[in-house]
Amino acid sequence: MQTSSLSQLATDRNKKNMKAAVYRSHSKDPRQVVRIEDIDVPKIKSHEVLIKVDAAAYNYNDLWGIWGEPIKIPLPHISGSDVAGTVIEVGDDVSKIRVGDRIVSHPNLTCRVCYQCTSGREYDCSDRLVWGFQTGPLWGGFAQYTHLPEVNVVKLPDSVSFNDAAAISMVGMTAWHMLVTRAGIRPGQTVLIMGGGSGMGIAGIQIAKLFNCDVIATAGNKEKMDKCIKLGADYVVNHREDGWHRKVREITNKLGVDVIFEHIGKTVFPQEVGLLKMGGTLVSTGATTGYDSTIDLRYLFFRGINLLGATQGTKAGLEEVISWVSKGKIKSVIDTVLPFSNMVEGHVKMADSQLFGKVLTTPQRL
Ligand SMILES: [Zn+2]
Repeated sequence: MQTSSLSQLATDRNKKNMKAAVYRSHSKDPRQVVRIEDIDVPKIKSHEVLIKVDAAAYNYNDLWGIWGEPIKIPLPHISGSDVAGTVIEVGDDVSKIRVGDRIVSHPNLTCRVCYQCTSGREYDCSDRLVWGFQTGPLWGGFAQYTHLPEVNVVKLPDSVSFNDAAAISMVGMTAWHMLVTRAGIRPGQTVLIMGGGSGMGIAGIQIAKLFNCDVIATAGNKEKMDKCIKLGADYVVNHREDGWHRKVREITNKLGVDVIFEHIGKTVFPQEVGLLKMGGTLVSTGATTGYDSTIDLRYLFFRGINLLGATQGTKAGLEEVISWVSKGKIKSVIDTVLPFSNMVEGHVKMADSQLFGKVLTTPQRL
């Protein structure tokens, strides 16, 4: 490390105050409650690291926190689950991470002791909290400095920028978990990526292509459809048009698909189930259009299909995604980077379905 950056780290370590995006009450309009405040730099516990945050990405979780729905969260609150930056201090019990390491956050806080955690299913830990969403008071990523347990950070290769790391972490980890860990995709399969223009879909298309699958993506408008093809999808269909599922079936020569990557919910779910091949797999991680869906149960037993759920993912999965990003095989797609002084606009943008890629803010650049 160069002398200049060492002295910069020392300066950062001695800082007592920082700017953070704080809200102290709930509102449907983030502009009413989220304020940039000067607060104390957090103190770390012995198993934690202190991080100088360079880039932080937005997620829908952040909006749920600000709304106070569907679950209650600690107040006052700092949102933000995806950050990338530099470690500037480590606790006495930290063993693998060093001051100066470039890292990205792994936002699943779990016990690491229970049966689920020790059998590789940390996402099923009954103590699991999503950092920045369920944690606090004042413990999240939209701040100039933050802290995490050593086990919740992943080292970044020099070739992966802070912006790219923050943009890919949550969606990359979740999409990897859905397709690789849960659905077990194999080369040559036909994979239907629903909502290919969303953050999740952008990661899903690229992971399915990494496995040499034939990818049919869906999107809600022409612009996003074109972008799905540029990302590597072999075919694209508009899921807002009547009969979209018949178009998918035609593309497969009426054979159906092996795997469906689903997060849209009730407006498409019944049709999706009818598109699966015998023994095919649908993996779902959300339901933005509604969760009270119905299906024709005959598909379930006559065709022996698998309906799987998935939420978040593993730290190991995140490490694999970062490794593929460093090789240029998975690319982060960034829609907007906002200065921190205007970070509240990122929350407003998240409600905009025209986004293509992640929204970021840069807490060191006001
Ligand atoms: Zn556990």
